[in-house]
Amino acid sequence: MATCTYTVPNKDISGDNLYGPRVCWQAFIDWAWNAHGFRKNYWDDGFGYYDVCDNNKPLCRTLSALWLLNYSAEDYWNEQWSNNILHWGRRYVRQQIDDLRSKCGDGSAIAAAFRGLFVDDRVELYMGFFYSKDVPGRAETFIHESRHMGGKSHNANFPTGSVFGGGGSGADSTWSFNGAWMYGALYLWWFYADGRRTTNALKQSARQRANLVIDNAFATHPGFNIA
Ligand SMILES: [Zn+2]
Repeated sequence: MATCTYTVPNKDISGDNLYGPRVCWQAFIDWAWNAHGFRKNYWDDGFGYYDVCDNNKPLCRTLSALWLLNYSAEDYWNEQWSNNILHWGRRYVRQQIDDLRSKCGDGSAIAAAFRGLFVDDRVELYMGFFYSKDVPGRAETFIHESRHMGGKSHNANFPTGSVFGGGGSGADSTWSFNGAWMYGALYLWWFYADGRRTTNALKQSARQRANLVIDNAFATHPGFNIA
């Protein structure tokens, strides 16, 4: 990580001071490590393999998102597909991601999913994931990239004026396309509406991020916002 540069934003606001101590629990670390395809050579060299409880480091901040993803439903063990995404999101991510790597990226990049016939299927996480997103936002990224791993690519260009780059590719056509943006926004929506073991501030942040996605990531606006 010698070539990565980053600053650590306020960890009370990002949720890392709330979730970081929770992941510092060996049984959880071992389970999450195996369930999501972490490998040492992608997480050492400054990314936190030797400092798993240090919430300044990428690994701890990634595990915090996985903790949130796994334990935010009141009855989190009920992960049937017939429940809402707050329940089955964790199951979906486990099923879709079996190779999870950390990299520097270009400084602002969040994450990317790679899959295909001659591709080493994997999800890569970059500095933007670790340091520009709060803990609920990182869980959104896990859901988003899992949808890509599940075979759904983006199919439209961002609308004019989009914060994600108006006119550029990477948007979903509609909400009912059921793409990665919809999955991520839906997760944040449920986290806002019924998330447990968290704070009102983080729930409000999830609502704001979901509305940002709703307003900027669909070629045709879904026609609603989260009040
Ligand atoms: Zn995407």
